[in-house]
Amino acid sequence: MLDLAIIGGGPAGLTAGLYATRGGLQNVTMFEMGMPGGQITGSSEIENYPGQGKVMTGMELMENWPAQALKFGLKHEMNQVKTVVKDGDIFTIITADGKQQESKSVLLATGSVPRRAGFKGENEFFGRGISTCATCDGFFYKGKEVALIGGGDSALEEAVYLSKICSKVYLVHRRDTYRAAPSTIEHMKARDNIEEVTNVDVEEVYGDNMGVTGLKVKSKIDGTIRDLNVPGVFVFVGRDVLNEPFKQEDGTFLCDVNEQGEIIVDLKMRTNVPGIYAAGDVRIDAAKQVVCAAGDGATAAVDIIEYVG
Ligand code: NAP
Repeated sequence: MLDLAIIGGGPAGLTAGLYATRGGLQNVTMFEMGMPGGQITGSSEIENYPGQGKVMTGMELMENWPAQALKFGLKHEMNQVKTVVKDGDIFTIITADGKQQESKSVLLATGSVPRRAGFKGENEFFGRGISTCATCDGFFYKGKEVALIGGGDSALEEAVYLSKICSKVYLVHRRDTYRAAPSTIEHMKARDNIEEVTNVDVEEVYGDNMGVTGLKVKSKIDGTIRDLNVPGVFVFVGRDVLNEPFKQEDGTFLCDVNEQGEIIVDLKMRTNVPGIYAAGDVRIDAAKQVVCAAGDGATAAVDIIEYVG
């Protein structure tokens, strides 16, 4: 029987694992189907993690986290959690290989995945010219022109990153004001090879059997259509939470969620079901920052230690 099952190995899950094991819990397993580190490992530039003065990649920031967390006895199981079932005070973790493990408590720290924007051609060309990771795929477009869709922090940060690899970046946004932080907007505006294409809707991304050859955008002001002939399109239009493990057979959730499927928690990261917790981007009102996810993980672990007793 596990004391705690942590689902997800990003900043929230790793920090919870570190605090729970160092705080005395004996049997703690973190289920993470990929390499621990989380979605932040796809970020190209981090400059706001406290205490780290230099600008670094997400990979660099997360490099030492897994070893530190595993040092105190946390176990990492490379497996996908399909669902969690409750029977009285005990939870059964069912993984993709059909294995079942019982646990006294569960922390969901699965984070989120990139959202699809919904334009024509998006699914057809996904992975064949359409990408949601500039650090992973930017290099394929070295010296070429690319388009990037979105107007938040992710879009503008990655536009700046791509502008250092690509000859030109078309920043395509549906409004003419951005959600990104003022300093990020300033960085973007300082790059002379980023062209802002604002107040437009993406009509379609098109291509041939080799991949993307361009996209059509339509002005919201006068309806004119513009073709951007690029071989690469990056999409950064927000993220959807990964709440699947808490979904039950009848379509309900193991605990309360809001309209967006985000897990409802209190200030101790407790859900409405005793023994079930959520931390990081998967929870309501998440600030979506590494430092906050890590803080959530620690907060949850402190309460879980008391709960498990
Ligand atoms: P976001 O802030 O939700 O921005 C999404 C952007 O995509 C918005 O500009 C939105 O346009 C646009 N958009 C949404 N759906 C669209 C669609 N179907 N078609 C075209 N455009 C669409 O998402 P994010 O940039 O991924 O950031 C998520 C959170 O993480 C935010 O809280 C952000 O501050 C945080 N974050 C922080 C940092 C940092 O601090 N360094 C870095 C990255 C992310 P509208 O503006 O018109 O709605």
